[in-house]
Amino acid sequence: MNGVRGRISDEAIRQVRERASISEVVSDVVALRRRGRSAVGLCPFHTEKTPSFNVSEERGFFHCFGCGEHGDVFGFVMKTRSLAFPEAVREIAQRFGVTLPEPVEGGGRQGDPLAEANAAAATFFRAELRGESGVRARAYLRERGLGDEVIEQFGVGYAPGTGDALVRHLRAGRIPSEDALTAGLIMRSERPDARYPLYDRFRDRVMFPITDGAGKVIAFGGRVMPGRPASGDPPPKYLNSPESPIFRKGHTLYALTQARDGIRRTGRALVVEGYIDVIALAQAGVREVVAPLGTALTVDQLRVLRRFTESVIACFDGDEAGRRAAARSFPTFVEAGLWGRGVFLPAGDDPDTFVRARGREAFEAIVAQAEPLVEAYLMDRAGPDREAVGRRAETAREVGRILKRVRNPLEFDVLVRLAADRLGVREEALRAEGATEKSPAPAVPTLPVGRAPSAEEMLVELMASDPSVAGRLRQENIIDEFEQPVWRRTAEAVLAASDAGDRSELVQALPRELRDRVVRRLLGELDDEDRERALADCIAKVRAVPRRRQASMLKEEIRAAESRGDDAVAADARRRLQSLMSHTEKASR
Ligand SMILES: [Zn+2]
Repeated sequence: MNGVRGRISDEAIRQVRERASISEVVSDVVALRRRGRSAVGLCPFHTEKTPSFNVSEERGFFHCFGCGEHGDVFGFVMKTRSLAFPEAVREIAQRFGVTLPEPVEGGGRQGDPLAEANAAAATFFRAELRGESGVRARAYLRERGLGDEVIEQFGVGYAPGTGDALVRHLRAGRIPSEDALTAGLIMRSERPDARYPLYDRFRDRVMFPITDGAGKVIAFGGRVMPGRPASGDPPPKYLNSPESPIFRKGHTLYALTQARDGIRRTGRALVVEGYIDVIALAQAGVREVVAPLGTALTVDQLRVLRRFTESVIACFDGDEAGRRAAARSFPTFVEAGLWGRGVFLPAGDDPDTFVRARGREAFEAIVAQAEPLVEAYLMDRAGPDREAVGRRAETAREVGRILKRVRNPLEFDVLVRLAADRLGVREEALRAEGATEKSPAPAVPTLPVGRAPSAEEMLVELMASDPSVAGRLRQENIIDEFEQPVWRRTAEAVLAASDAGDRSELVQALPRELRDRVVRRLLGELDDEDRERALADCIAKVRAVPRRRQASMLKEEIRAAESRGDDAVAADARRRLQSLMSHTEKASR
């Protein structure tokens, strides 16, 4: 880590860490509830129904007892926003008003080269939209009713159709072609005689930047211009950047950065299909809106949303296909731990046209009538041939599979009763189908039983949870006497980290079980009153091992000397053995 932090001094990092509030930063992503000395919430790093994600403001760390993720405020920002350490420090410094010295000149480029290539492209597309080549694109956006303000706010741009305009622009900006290729902004021609050996992926398209949690551009969606002359196959209406090291399509939602405040304010999130729907609604004042990236909603996208709200409302067409889409989405919602509601727009309307023609109030009115997705699902399952032989059993099994994923007993009950009613299946049959795997995981797993930690492991645990213990053990020189190489190495690492004052990194480096126990001590969940005795016991035990070994060597020496008849040597060995034994007794008392 030290190599990475490079240009920011340790002192500055310490200042930022002290000033920052980790629960405030975590609250951007996780809804936290106070519990005892810490705050708990649903872990953003794995899916769970019962909170096992702990944040200790006092100690400045987060820890998940479910998946073992652990870290300090910097680690949290790095993990949730895919930032490098210096970027995370800078961002938190800015947020909490700590001034950092400027990075040293000539220190090389900062940040992620792929994000940098995307940022350069976003700037280029925006300028093109405003410039001469953007006339038609501007006319198109105007026709869709989008004003300059939202266009600016969502960073909408235009990719010219010339072939290699972006290639040349990026080259002039010294963005390496390899980075632009990896980011999927440009492509390499297969043909040796190609007019453009490198050419733009997006040509003659309206461009919608797709951002990560930090608002950094990680990909683009490009919409084809209307009335584009048809030659050969019609191009796809929407084209997205391919996946790259910084862009995972199934985990990303369009406009989440812009929607975050709105979601927090209204306590709900709306999911629409198109990028323009999002922007049109924002313009009308509905700002808690996101969109998947051209495909059906994925479980991972819903999990991302669920960090912000449990009230997720998806917009569908009011026609048959829209109803079916709503029905199909229900199992996905359940899988993500959400119940989900659906809004059905009048047939032929999408949110963009609807809000433009009828205004915000009409849109709000229709959202207020959102139906639970379970209704659409059951209606679809019941189907026209609901009496058909075999159909009921099949449907019961399918509902059973969904029920298995429902952890909330209330929701389980509601679904059973609704399904029984709508599908004409007996409730008991459904309960039986859905009965397994229903016991929720304990929020805080109990300590592993049947395996008592060794004295060395215990000392490492005590050291890791209290720097003063680390100092005392160093003075005792006890680590040199550790038998197990793994614990000696861990103990040395703990000492080094406690010198550097970076406990988070230290805890992360511990074996999983030990990590959880250390955190429990840090959270004050384990009794500390016996600590002194535990310490003394462990030290005695560790010391006893070499003593025992020394004792058996002395006994061996005595036997050998006696058999040789060497009384002087035997007597000396006996004296040494006696003194060793008396020390051992003292130590273990
Ligand atoms: Zn977790």
